[in-house]
Amino acid sequence: MSPNVADPKASAPRNPKVAIVGAGSVGATIAYASVIRGVAKHIVLYDVDAAKTRAEELDLNHGIQFVEMARIEGSSDVAICAGADVVVVTAGAKQKPGQSRIDLAQANCAILKTIVPAIVELAPGAILLLVTNPVDVMTYAALKLSGFPPRRVFGSGTVLDSSRLRFLIARRLDVAVQNVHAYIAGEHGDSEVALWGSATAGGVPLEDWDAPGRAKLRARDRTEIHASVKNAAYEIIRGKGATNYAIGLATARILEAVLHDENSVLPVSSLLDGYRGIRDVCLSVPCVLNRRGVEAHLPVPLAPAEEEALKVSAETVRGVVRGLGF
Ligand code: NAD
Repeated sequence: MSPNVADPKASAPRNPKVAIVGAGSVGATIAYASVIRGVAKHIVLYDVDAAKTRAEELDLNHGIQFVEMARIEGSSDVAICAGADVVVVTAGAKQKPGQSRIDLAQANCAILKTIVPAIVELAPGAILLLVTNPVDVMTYAALKLSGFPPRRVFGSGTVLDSSRLRFLIARRLDVAVQNVHAYIAGEHGDSEVALWGSATAGGVPLEDWDAPGRAKLRARDRTEIHASVKNAAYEIIRGKGATNYAIGLATARILEAVLHDENSVLPVSSLLDGYRGIRDVCLSVPCVLNRRGVEAHLPVPLAPAEEEALKVSAETVRGVVRGLGF
């Protein structure tokens, strides 16, 4: 082609590539939710279990006719992740009934130590999105193992816990969940903190909620709701062995915020460096997310008890991280 004739392919923007490491319940559901939401045109699955990866690749591809066109590939060779824009890590052991997320730290960190160096080599410009539990610990480990800038390494954090919180508040108040704004901050786990002081429904602070014909939200209700959020995963795992649909949708939403360069506010887990005096630990607080990753941590108003609980949560996660030698 003459150099004066524009090559449409040369100027066309490349389709973003999402690599999902781990094609288990969570990884496959993230792929499914992402395909249905049209999050990315090119999704690859990498898992050491070749037969499972091939099965998920086939099953996902057989549904493409019914959604936006996308290319889905699977492999047991990590090279399939080459050039990915975002690498979602879901590989690892999951909780067994009664096990806490922190109980998984040692085994899943060992897996991370094999995966991260390969990803750094194959996709040096990627954003790393950790989902494997305990997610705050894994995010910190991936940050250190990769050497990537902190904005490019974050975890799904309490995006899922916050959606569980919003669902329970919405049901109690009988309003649509989309009209509830409330965050869980801190660890994605037992020390997580419900930020009631900044929670609103339809613009009404929840602490003042007194809508005609609607239930009130008393201190006892708030305690019960927070306990239900914390124990949700335990209940689901007892009943069906894994949680997958909500984390699939939550992760697809995070991917969308990043790949569509939205500046959306989501409570992902990322390195805090002086947030309310908290340093050198990955935890969730509401963050602005865009194509570059975590753009800013929002200074949400915290009641004194919330700030104290966030510091306790930071210490919990830091203790596990130090125990792993980071
Ligand atoms: P799963 O057992 O169904 O899948 C895990 C997959 O990882 C398996 O297919 C396995 O073959 C693969 N794997 C193991 N080692 C690997 C390696 N070195 N390279 C590539 N693949 C490897 O488990 P699941 O239910 O999909 O859960 C996965 C993880 O996600 C768990 O740690 C779970 O606790 C976590 N999780 C996190 C959240 C969250 O909110 N962050 C929610 C649900 C589950």
